[in-house]
Amino acid sequence: LVRLRARLARSQSSLGKGLLTLLSRENLDEETWEEIEDTLLRADVGVAPTQELVERLRERVRVLGTRTPEELRALLREELLHLVATDADRTVNTAGGVSSTGDELPAIALVVGVNGTGKTTTTGKLARVLVADGKSVVLGAADTFRAAAADQLETWGSRVGARTVRGPEGGDPASVAFQAVKEGIQETADVVLVDTAGRLHTKTGLMDELGKVKRVVEKQAPVGEVLLVLDATTGQNGLVQARVFAEVVDVTGVVLTKLDGTAKGGIVIAVQRELGVPVKLVGLGEGPDDLAPFEAEAFVDALID
Ligand code: GDP
Repeated sequence: LVRLRARLARSQSSLGKGLLTLLSRENLDEETWEEIEDTLLRADVGVAPTQELVERLRERVRVLGTRTPEELRALLREELLHLVATDADRTVNTAGGVSSTGDELPAIALVVGVNGTGKTTTTGKLARVLVADGKSVVLGAADTFRAAAADQLETWGSRVGARTVRGPEGGDPASVAFQAVKEGIQETADVVLVDTAGRLHTKTGLMDELGKVKRVVEKQAPVGEVLLVLDATTGQNGLVQARVFAEVVDVTGVVLTKLDGTAKGGIVIAVQRELGVPVKLVGLGEGPDDLAPFEAEAFVDALID
């Protein structure tokens, strides 16, 4: 975790440094505030949160009068935290349900998102975290459309110690999801993670497909978590995707991948604001250990340290 924090800090520090340099100017004139706005927008913080942050900063700097670098840093830290923090629970829900006959049911999590965002990789990494935590995990390879997705998931599964349930290529994603949950229940697994197909061909197509996956799964066990995987490097495009998915399915948490490859961590703020759903996990690399819980304070410190 410490190593991951350092990596996050390296990728995100330019935003905070840029802001602090601007805020430290002797004369905080209109032009400087515009530069501060531009810096935030370039980091994908989003228009409304940027305006809110700048307004609050302006007011607090005005009240403060003369300011030391330490004061400015503390102030910026507080205000960024104000934007990133949420009352929502950021832990991935791994509490299983109980069937109508009183039997324990595995916790079910659907992993959704557009292909290429890192869905399968995230599913594998998450399985690893859960297995390391002593949980038995079944993986459902319901992305039956991307040619190698099931193989890729199975490779992850055997690497981390989770069995993968798969169907024929091009088969019905919902029937694979159904089967994975069925087997998860039969073998009293703790968690079933279902990797879904992310074809954003048309909204109705996606809606039909994901809706069906969720419905057939819920016939057997409640879906406690729908994790939306977004690629942090895709910026505003990622937000558009987020909006579409949120309309189609009840997203309960966001996983922001590839934060190691971009300084645009402001997307954390934008996506939480857009969906009203917390960022729960962040991807910081392609390796099995490169998934971290999202921590608001550590994230803000990474921005400004
Ligand atoms: P899917 O189509 O959404 O299932 O995407 P994949 O899981 O196949 O991931 C697409 C590519 O992104 C792969 O090359 C992954 O190794 C890479 N990837 C996934 N997550 C991360 C991350 O957090 N950081 C980096 N740098 N690469 C990632």
